[in-house]
Amino acid sequence: MATASLLPAPRLWTPKRLLATKSALGWDHGRAIATRAADLGVEVVELPSDRLALAFPDDPRQAYAQAKQTLALTVAPPSKRKLQPIAPSADWRVDLAEGCPAHCSYCYLAGSLKGPPITRVYANLPEILDELPRHLGQGQVTSRSRTRAHEGTTYEASCYTDPLALEHLTGGLAALIGYMGAWGADAHLRFTTKFAAVEPLLALPHSGRTRMRASINPPEFARFEGGTSPVAQRLDALQRMALAGYPVGLTVAPIIAADGWQDVYGRLIADAATALNDVPGLDLTVELITHRFTPGSKAVLDSWYPGSSLEMDPGARATKRTKFGSLKHVYDADTMRELRAFFESRIAARLPSARTLYWT
Ligand code: SF4
Repeated sequence: MATASLLPAPRLWTPKRLLATKSALGWDHGRAIATRAADLGVEVVELPSDRLALAFPDDPRQAYAQAKQTLALTVAPPSKRKLQPIAPSADWRVDLAEGCPAHCSYCYLAGSLKGPPITRVYANLPEILDELPRHLGQGQVTSRSRTRAHEGTTYEASCYTDPLALEHLTGGLAALIGYMGAWGADAHLRFTTKFAAVEPLLALPHSGRTRMRASINPPEFARFEGGTSPVAQRLDALQRMALAGYPVGLTVAPIIAADGWQDVYGRLIADAATALNDVPGLDLTVELITHRFTPGSKAVLDSWYPGSSLEMDPGARATKRTKFGSLKHVYDADTMRELRAFFESRIAARLPSARTLYWT
């Protein structure tokens, strides 16, 4: 059942320019992206080769601003198409793009992507899709989980980007959803988003093989999530996807233990319950991710958002080592316990049909 939204239409990101490499324009999907961008009034620059000529000003603020307004259309090389395990979300990570146009003060991409924060979208969609069957039945993350093995092989599309933020420019997410729906394999696609423009996804033949999760935080923390859709729109979009028969989820991320967190997160969970509890046949999961940072991500985020009031004080945090040996700063054990108990009890009370997949 498709429904109309009563909220204003979500704002769509329009980059200042699209830099298209020569090889990217050799792909149908690449040419379609260039056409969509041109139709939206974006300046499309056709590069003479596959080299991305990125010249940004020395001033870091201007360089950041220009990079964030730049969309690059490239071909994903084999190294980027090779699927990687992505615990705890999914067996495999599949990337349609890299980078995101939003401006979140805590953005997790700051610790994983190098270089200026442009957004790249990939033109060679058929080659990306070709990787999926090769990994069917090979998963070691959710496939090995006692409680999640029924999802089959899982593929996560929002590790290095927010795919819904770019969908009006690429159509890549719709193609991936359609692929999973037609495939008929014991497999699921997953994506999470801080955006809300789901209209083009509602009528797709998804066969229940894609789970959309809305990544949410209270409206009181909107100052940390510049350029994203308002959380009310994200919940509305999730409700519409659920009514269209998609399995859905809430990614509460990152959970920020700022003063008054109990009140604002309590209201957020109540709002999610209002949006979702009456959906017939609701299939709802929850993922709970507390705010953390590394010395590297903090350095990048401090340079991107020098005025941010988001607490990122290593002295106020506990320190953990990742499995790769690097440091990360997390909330101390007492705060973590308090947060976890709060979320578990509120979710049980307000979203009784939800399955919580993990807490981290
Ligand atoms: Fe980063 Fe997600 Fe915010 Fe985009 S929406 S800037 S990927 S945290």
